[in-house]
Amino acid sequence: MINITLPDGSIRQYESGITPMGIALSISEGLARNVISALVNGEQVETTTPITTDATVQLLTWNDDLGKKAFWHSSAHLLAQAIVEFYPNAKLTIGPAIENGFYYDVDFGEESFQEKDFEKIEKRMLENARKNSEFKLYPVSKADALKEYAGNEYKTELIENLEDGAITFCSHDNFTDLCRGGHIPSTGIVKAVKILNAAGAYWRGDEKNKQLVRVYGISFPKQKDLTEYLNLLEEAKKRDHRKLGKELGFFTFSEKVGQGLPLWLPKGAALRKKLENFLMKAQQKAGYEMVISPHIGHKDLYVTSGHYAKYGADSFQPIHTPNEGEEFLLKPMNCPHHCEIYKAEQWSYRDLPKRYAEFGTVYRYEQSGELHGLTRVRGFTQDDAHLFCTPDQLLEEFKNVIDLVLYVFSSLGFEDFVTQVSLRDPDNKEKYIGSDENWEKAENAIMQAAEEKGLKTVVEYGEAAFYGPKLDFMVKDALGRKWQLGTIQVDYNLPERFELSYIGADNQAHTPVMIHRAPFGSMERFVAILLEHTAGNFPLWLTPDVFIILPISEKYQEYGEKLSKFLENSDIRGLIDNRNEKTGKKIRNAEMKKIPYMLIVGEKEAENGTVSVRKHGGEDLGEMTMEELKERIIKELEVN
Ligand SMILES: [Zn+2]
Ligand SMILES: [Zn+2]
Repeated sequence: MINITLPDGSIRQYESGITPMGIALSISEGLARNVISALVNGEQVETTTPITTDATVQLLTWNDDLGKKAFWHSSAHLLAQAIVEFYPNAKLTIGPAIENGFYYDVDFGEESFQEKDFEKIEKRMLENARKNSEFKLYPVSKADALKEYAGNEYKTELIENLEDGAITFCSHDNFTDLCRGGHIPSTGIVKAVKILNAAGAYWRGDEKNKQLVRVYGISFPKQKDLTEYLNLLEEAKKRDHRKLGKELGFFTFSEKVGQGLPLWLPKGAALRKKLENFLMKAQQKAGYEMVISPHIGHKDLYVTSGHYAKYGADSFQPIHTPNEGEEFLLKPMNCPHHCEIYKAEQWSYRDLPKRYAEFGTVYRYEQSGELHGLTRVRGFTQDDAHLFCTPDQLLEEFKNVIDLVLYVFSSLGFEDFVTQVSLRDPDNKEKYIGSDENWEKAENAIMQAAEEKGLKTVVEYGEAAFYGPKLDFMVKDALGRKWQLGTIQVDYNLPERFELSYIGADNQAHTPVMIHRAPFGSMERFVAILLEHTAGNFPLWLTPDVFIILPISEKYQEYGEKLSKFLENSDIRGLIDNRNEKTGKKIRNAEMKKIPYMLIVGEKEAENGTVSVRKHGGEDLGEMTMEELKERIIKELEVN
């Protein structure tokens, strides 16, 4: 008998050779129906893999990320099967599961594969799936594997890099593929399929190699899930920040200025300024001091910091001056500058912590293929800050930073997030700089801070930077997509490299600990995420134009101007649409610009000293006095 430990800690005994599916069946038939994959001692296996020693077992369903992975990986087999049925000469290469769905890279040879071909593949995949064939994984010798794939140079290359004895094939129905495993029990579970895209991709990601066609697909256990997913994609398209940014007049790019260098238009600049003011106010309360540093720095600065070694060759190249040999770099990071700011004075332990904040613009040369709207750019402004403290202050400082990040998230409507703590690899401590004692202090400080703040945390060992552990925040947006936002990072390296010090209570010089943090990440990326999260319907306090006045004819323009002045006197900013257009058209226009308050004024309103109020989205608030309107807006603005 062997002992099987389940995730709830319970231990069950089975005959050696029991499979994950057997375990599921022994618990309940309902569970067995839902189990599609399993982890045995942390390794993903087939549900039919015999277990012969004591083990921990986790049964996976569609609701587990790894369950989905097995589902999509198996669906890639169905995709490959359908492709070779229609294109017998196509050469298969690799086909993994990805975050949403799967792809297969295929060499179609002389034939083309385009959108018009998607439907027949989808149909065939479902036809084949309905046969409900089992996925069978079995070992193959290297010689046999090579024989099987003679004529397919891609699979041949893959097999040649595998060890004889560790090669497996997977068969279902009439189709076989080279595969390491991790499948669902049978094809019948796949009930809905969509081919999403076909794009060029180089074999092994190398431009020198042949270009293949990467066929992207997604599949689900229910048709309803696919419908929901496609609706989500549709909604995501509507919310694409590049599209919204253009419609709302937030930002633009110019080839003349340069790729990846965003130009903020007045409305976008206004929003950004509001975000900066909001954070600045919160930081002031938390004891931060604003600093300002230049956009360039002497090359030596970045040699000292180590950034030259990291960014030097692959980023913007040094700026030369008329002085022979003198070189400056566009700054890739603000930290080195802030270290020098700290150094401007000798501090005592009583002066610490020092908290320097700056909206600091940095420049990094991203590959042009990587550039994407505001989320991947070559020049961006971090809402950066560096905190310098004694090791004893670290826990308190860390908690304060978490508070600030949580305040930012809740103020901006990101309620759903998870955090990841990245710690040292305990088996490989040599790769990290700094003493054991400091690392333990820092790691304990992060864990304790996260726990005291009640964060939902995943701990990842070996994910820390070589210079210190960190805490990352991943938010889920309105469409359930995950975005990495703020990071809080402990750093022992830079204070040493810059020989920073403070005088301790013992009258000796000590090295401070440094915390890097940026709740937004960067202004560019944050605005992009905010646009996609809110679909451009920002909380009122962030909206560049709170209202638009719509006089129903020229006669009421004067009254409109009066209303506008009245609101602006209370610091409520907006627009007036005096065009000679029908009111219906003006409303549609204001709806597209997502302006929260539409204020309609005509004869009745001018006579009564009132305004008819319509909210973005169509809600009719009826007629109210100017004073009532003002009070209402002020109250809504005050929420933050
Ligand atoms: Zn497979
Ligand atoms: Zn930094």
